[in-house]
Amino acid sequence: MKVSVIGSGYVGSVTAACFAEVGHEVVCVDIDRKKMEQINSGIPPIYEEGLGELLRKYAGKRLIATNDYEFAIKETEVSFLCVGTPSAEDGSIDLSIVRAAATSIGAALAKKEGYHVVVVKSTVVPETTEKFVLPILEESSGKKAGKDFGVAMNPEFLREGKAVHDFMHPDKIVVGAIDRKSGDLVSELYRTFECEVTRTNPSTAEMIKYANNSLLATKISFANEIGNICKKLGIDTYEVMEAVGKDFRISSRFLNSGAGFGGSCFPKDVKALIGKAKTIGYSPVLLESVIAVNEKQPLLMTEILRAKIGDLSGKKIAVLGLAFKNETDDVRESRAIPVIAELLRQEAKISAYDPMAIENMKKVFPTIEYFQKAEDALKEADACLVMTEWEEFRHLESEFEGMNKKIVIDGRRVIKATNIDYEGLCW
Ligand code: NAD
Repeated sequence: MKVSVIGSGYVGSVTAACFAEVGHEVVCVDIDRKKMEQINSGIPPIYEEGLGELLRKYAGKRLIATNDYEFAIKETEVSFLCVGTPSAEDGSIDLSIVRAAATSIGAALAKKEGYHVVVVKSTVVPETTEKFVLPILEESSGKKAGKDFGVAMNPEFLREGKAVHDFMHPDKIVVGAIDRKSGDLVSELYRTFECEVTRTNPSTAEMIKYANNSLLATKISFANEIGNICKKLGIDTYEVMEAVGKDFRISSRFLNSGAGFGGSCFPKDVKALIGKAKTIGYSPVLLESVIAVNEKQPLLMTEILRAKIGDLSGKKIAVLGLAFKNETDDVRESRAIPVIAELLRQEAKISAYDPMAIENMKKVFPTIEYFQKAEDALKEADACLVMTEWEEFRHLESEFEGMNKKIVIDGRRVIKATNIDYEGLCW
C-alpha cells in the first residue's frame, strides 16, 4: 500500500522505515529540511537501533522524504500523523503542532480526488481525533469525514531504543476508527504482522494509550515509594521487588526503583491525562501522586550528596548518564535535568558524560563541561551521580581512581565497582 507519514521524529521515522520493510511505499513529510535530507540520504535523523540499516535499504526507493504535503497526500492512500504533542505550561496537552499538520493535510486533501484515510498516531487525549482533528480536516479540505475521507486513531506503544524491534513485533495493535471502511484500510496495513488488531472507536484507542503509559508510570512511582521506605528501614528494595514481581498478576517489569521516569512519553502523557480529567470535573489523585513521586525522586540524589559532602558550592560533581534511559540519545524529561539544575542552583561545577546524549544535553545546559569518556568526567571530581542505566557503567572500576573523593551515588543500581564509597538512591 502507499503510505505517507507526517512528522519524521522518533515515531515517524521508525513507522516509515518499518512500513517500507513490510513492503509498503512510504512518503515522509517533515517541515525540518535537515531531517528530510537525512532520510533521503539513508541517514537516521535520530539514534535508534536498526533504523540506519532500514533507511539505507529503502531510502530513495520505497521510502522518500519531502516537505510537499500535496505530493504526499496525492501519491498515497493513507497518512499517519506522527507530530509531537508536548505539554502546555499547565501540563495539559498542547495540540498546536497537531493543528498545523492537520490543517496542511486538509488543504492537500482538498486538491485530491478519491478516498484517503488520515490516521492519528501521535498520542492525543481522548476525544481529540474526533472532536479536534476531524473538524480541522473537514474545514481545511471542504470535504466530509466518513464520506470523502476516513479518520482513524492508531496509538504507538514502541519503546525508544528498541523502537524498530517493537514496531516489527508488537504485542498489541489498536485501530480506533470512525467507520468500518477507515478501520479496514488501516488494519490491512498491518496484515503481515503476527499480532491481533484490536478494533475500537477513536476515543477508546486514545484512552488505551494513556491507560497503558499511566499504569507503567504508576508501577515505577510505586516502586520508588517502596524503595524510599525500604532505604529508611535498611531493607533492600530490589530483593523485595524481585519477590513481588514473581506474582504473575504483577510481573517483574517496571519495578526497579531509582531516579524516576523521564522521556518524551510517561511524564507528558500522565500530565495530559490529569489535564483532560480535570476538564471533565474529575480530580485524578492517584495520577497526581505518580507525578509528585517522580518529581521528588531525582532531588533525593542531591539531598544524599549534600548529606555526604556538605555545601556543594565550587565542588566538582561528575554526572554520568544524561539520556533519559540507556540505548537512546533522547534527553527529553531526563531525570538528569532536574539534578543538574539543582546542582547548578547550589553552585556546583559539573562534568558530564553520556555515550550518546551529549549533543542533545548541550542544548539544555550549554555551559556545563562535557567529556567524551567517563574517566575524563570523573577526574578530580568530589563526587559522582549516576543517572542512566548504561551497560558500560556496570564495568566502571579503574575510571573512579582519578576522583578527588570516590563518592558515588547511584540512581540506577548499575555500578558494580568495589573501590568506591558507594550509596544507592533507594538501597
Ligand atoms: P518528535 O518531536 O521526535 O517528532 C515530531 C516530528 O514532527 C519532528 O521531526 C518535527 O520536525 C515534525 N513536525 C513538526 N511540525 C510539523 C508539521 N506541521 N508538518 C510535518 N512535520 C512536522 O516526536 P516523537 O517523539 O516522534 O513523538 C510523536 C508523537 O508520538 C507524540 O505524540 C508522542 O507522544 C507519540 N509517541 C512517542 C513515542 C516515543 O517513544 N518517542 C512513543 C509512542 C508515541
